[in-house]
Amino acid sequence: MARVEVVDTGHETPCHIWTGPTSGDGRGGQYARMSLDGQTVAVHKVSWTNENGFIPGKKQLDHKCRQRLCVRESHLELVTHRQNQKRRAAAAVAAALEAAE
Ligand SMILES: [Zn+2]
Repeated sequence: MARVEVVDTGHETPCHIWTGPTSGDGRGGQYARMSLDGQTVAVHKVSWTNENGFIPGKKQLDHKCRQRLCVRESHLELVTHRQNQKRRAAAAVAAALEAAE
């Protein structure tokens, strides 16, 4: 894939940051998008599905590196919506604490 930039974002391994089209700036935005068979799809889902297969309907993919534009399969983990929300909240608290230092 040519539309990926390898960037060290502080995660265990470098991120593969998408430099192609995204889903925009609104709610649910800032995710990598591409065209596949005439349909617009989320690149990180394609990347994960390629390696692991079907994503069960109630599950979501969480970016362990917290980079929405990262499409590296090993940085993604299948979680429930509740787990994803909890992690997001924990990350927000950690960021706030860091900013307060
Ligand atoms: Zn990443």
